[in-house]
Amino acid sequence: MLIFKTSQQMQLWSLSQKRRGKTIAFVPTMGALHEGHLALIDDTRKRCDLCVISIYVNPAQFGPNEDFNKYPRDTERDLALAKERRTDAVFLPANEEIYPAGYQTFVNVGEVTKPLCGASRPGHFRGVATVVAKLFNIVLPDVAIFGEKDFQQLVVIKRMVRDLNFPIEIVGHPIVREKDGLAMSSRNRYLSGEERAAALSIFKSLGEAERMVKNGEKNASRIISKVKATIESNNIMRIDYVNIVNPETLIDISEITRPSLLAIAAFAGKTRLIDNRVI
Ligand code: AMP
Repeated sequence: MLIFKTSQQMQLWSLSQKRRGKTIAFVPTMGALHEGHLALIDDTRKRCDLCVISIYVNPAQFGPNEDFNKYPRDTERDLALAKERRTDAVFLPANEEIYPAGYQTFVNVGEVTKPLCGASRPGHFRGVATVVAKLFNIVLPDVAIFGEKDFQQLVVIKRMVRDLNFPIEIVGHPIVREKDGLAMSSRNRYLSGEERAAALSIFKSLGEAERMVKNGEKNASRIISKVKATIESNNIMRIDYVNIVNPETLIDISEITRPSLLAIAAFAGKTRLIDNRVI
């Protein structure tokens, strides 16, 4: 497995592979790899000749009071796991490589960045879109795979790729869960035992919402009320948002007449968790 720390090295390698007719599938990550990330890596195998991942905790997507400094970093372990899953190359840049002195270009995607996480985390998707655009230009992939856990991120990247004509196919991968249903996340390691147990209410509420729709409930606000009640039944949990939206536009829906995205963000103690399901 090759490890590239500079953009130039990474780009030259990708260019040379492409000249030899090889296709590249790319998985951007912030490290602290878990089975969710590794499932995305496995997914590259059936799509392209080569698998490239990036490990970079992008400061531009964290707000001033968020967890950038304490975000889990474990590069040695990440590299061992990536190698085990037969990753061909890892792009592992330092901050100065991505945002050198004088850096001043940012990518702003429009309407789809405004609701949900965009409303609670101002500037987050500007940071995400900017770093992903740069990574695409550095790694030069044919296909890039993103998890549906970050559903809005997937919608934002698809919009950016269409709007800016990146010649890249964007693929969404289903949410990978722990045995009991909790969506895997690098942030789960912040949770105490008690918070971990309380956080399971998010998964439980997704199932309840799905059953309500199957039993004929169409009214979005009644489903949202039930989801909120389930999650807040434990005082460790605090809702950030619960919305039912059109999965393409992310605009709120009041009547469920077609598959709709139930998107949830909630705090377990101080840890912000997100989850979603198309219902
Ligand atoms: P992150 O390191 O959190 O930025 O995540 C890197 C990629 O892995 C993103 O495309 C995430 O959506 C994806 N990902 C993270 N957790 C999961 C999960 N539990 N299931 C599926 N994809 C995930």
